[in-house]
Amino acid sequence: MKAAVAHQFKHALEIQQVEKPIVGAKDVLVKIHACGVCHTDLHACHGDWPVKPKLPLVPGHEGVGEVVEVGSQISHIQIGDRVGIPWLYSACGHCEYCLSGDENLCLSQQNAGYSVDGSYAEYCKAHGDYVVKIPDGVSYVDAAPLFCAGVTTYKALKVSEIKPGQWVAIFGVGGLGHLAVQYAVAMGLNVVAVDTGDDKLALAKSLGATLCLDFNRDDVNGEIGRQVGGVHAAICTAVSKAGFEQSYKAVRRGGKCVLVGLPPEEMPLPIFDTVLNGVSVVGSIVGTRKDLEECLDFAARGKVKAITIEKSLDDINQVFEQMIAGEINGRVVMKFAQ
Ligand code: NAD
Ligand code: ZN
Ligand code: ZN
Repeated sequence: MKAAVAHQFKHALEIQQVEKPIVGAKDVLVKIHACGVCHTDLHACHGDWPVKPKLPLVPGHEGVGEVVEVGSQISHIQIGDRVGIPWLYSACGHCEYCLSGDENLCLSQQNAGYSVDGSYAEYCKAHGDYVVKIPDGVSYVDAAPLFCAGVTTYKALKVSEIKPGQWVAIFGVGGLGHLAVQYAVAMGLNVVAVDTGDDKLALAKSLGATLCLDFNRDDVNGEIGRQVGGVHAAICTAVSKAGFEQSYKAVRRGGKCVLVGLPPEEMPLPIFDTVLNGVSVVGSIVGTRKDLEECLDFAARGKVKAITIEKSLDDINQVFEQMIAGEINGRVVMKFAQ
């Protein structure tokens, strides 16, 4: 089968023929119809983080498609089912975190397109218990970005504990951020969106953001302070330390700053301000299968729709270049010929 493979960090992916995976008793084999390109895939191929991915690696954790083989111990998934393979490829199912509904924190988890091969390929093996079904009426291309960008931002908003009518600031209106704006609007929140360039700010506006600020042009924290009085929560999806610092400063007293983006840098945290302002800083990592079901349901009900740019697997190296340059407005989804 055809796949895009990373052999060395910071080198172009190779489009090549690899062996089709062999399914075990608890696995399913998915014929991939579409796969979104997440900035995490770029971090993986660059070896950006302290925990490195396997090499060679087939990246991809927004793969969706049709089940074509089912292992002997899987009974709730049938051949022909439409499913997606999220970042949370599998978890142990019996640790403290798995048992308390925090499977996304399981220490024994495997991650698609990182610790195991992902969906930048015509077929992808998945753990039958951890694939999630796509609701009828949501196309493969529309579903793909929800398997990471969607569930991650939906979950981050839940983690923020923000309430309808309050203000949330979304830092970074990229693949994740443009969905964060939509989930926030659907939840009845007032949205500030921060990114750069007329295209991204116009997109945020069209998706329902009330205040759109350009981090290269505007006094972001000054404007948020003046116009809103600080936000109740900030969700930072920016791939930049500067964005994290601004998101922290945007939060009003008693508010929450939810860290989502993963630039390979540290963020200085002022102890005095954090204590006196009673501000919480919390990380949020993808979501559980239940979060994913909920986030897909928003799409099935027409409340959220990813803005997608269709490409093919052969375009992946060029897509990574565009991502580095910040030129993608929405989410690139690679569509596979059937
Ligand atoms: P993306 O490249 O599509 O979007 C990132 C956006 O951040 C771009 O639009 C860019 O212009 C913007 N940006 C850069 N600097 C900024 C600043 N100072 N202020 C505001 N915006 C700024 O990337 P993506 O796919 O949306 O992923 C974003 C980050 O989230 C990546 O680091 C990725 O690894 C991480 N991520 C985390 C999780 C999680 O579970 N926590 C899940 C998926 C992705
Ligand atoms: Zn992702
Ligand atoms: Zn576990």
